[in-house]
Amino acid sequence: MKPFKLASRSDTNKDTLVAIPMPERTLFIGQGYCTIIAGPCAVEGRDSYLETALFLKNIGAHILRGGIFKPRTSPYSFKGLGREGLAIMVEARDLTGLPLVSEIMDVRDLDYLYEEVDILQVGSRNMQNFTLLEELGKLKKPVLLKRGLSATIEEWLLAAEYILNGGNPNVILCERGIRTFETYTRNTVDIGAVPLIKHLSHLPILVDPSHATGKWKMVVPVAKAAIAAGADGVMVEVHPDPDRALSDGKQSLTPDNFRKLYEEIEKLAALDNKVIL
Ligand code: PEP
Ligand code: MN
Repeated sequence: MKPFKLASRSDTNKDTLVAIPMPERTLFIGQGYCTIIAGPCAVEGRDSYLETALFLKNIGAHILRGGIFKPRTSPYSFKGLGREGLAIMVEARDLTGLPLVSEIMDVRDLDYLYEEVDILQVGSRNMQNFTLLEELGKLKKPVLLKRGLSATIEEWLLAAEYILNGGNPNVILCERGIRTFETYTRNTVDIGAVPLIKHLSHLPILVDPSHATGKWKMVVPVAKAAIAAGADGVMVEVHPDPDRALSDGKQSLTPDNFRKLYEEIEKLAALDNKVIL
């Protein structure tokens, strides 16, 4: 028996398709779909977020991202707008009709994040926060589970197992690079993780080329590599003025560069007969 019983691929279970119900239509993540999640690292203010959200929607992004609780290495860095940021994201959803993904760092925030956010993100630093994983397992809300900073594939799938074992089948994995000896890039992208996860598990897998590389110039090529390797989509950071971003400006695409990314991904999705609605 595999250590991850519920996350593992078997003869009987089909690929998981995670449904995100929205008033106008239901969005799917997984087999046959190519999903693009985009938005700034952190919600920094109302006008800039709404403007970016509208631009992303017009280009074709499927889901809006935005951090309102940011896990920063230094306690002196910008840590997000908290609930004020959430209200801005909700306004962006009303404006665009796009679902929202945002990171939950603390179970104490679950009640209201559950109400307002369409996908709860568990960040790398919390991949093994088992108390949080167990709480998310009690819900049906989709969870985007990022790979831990130095997590093995088995540790990652066992973290997913915590959520599945609690009764929540809606887990989406996200490869975001791992820590190695290399310092030119922020992390080392494990593209091999994509076909490996597809072989081992029925869960959808996305790639985040922004945190994986730390350099905006690498984001489009690595996003293409991810889709070519079989990923179900990508999550990228986009900022209207990356030089002035309060976090992760160096890895953020400008809106124009996001347009280029979308065009490239659209071509690859078509080659694979994937739906990119
Ligand atoms: C993020 O996506 O906002 C983030 C903090 O990423 P990670 O947890 O992968 O570092
Ligand atoms: Mn970031």
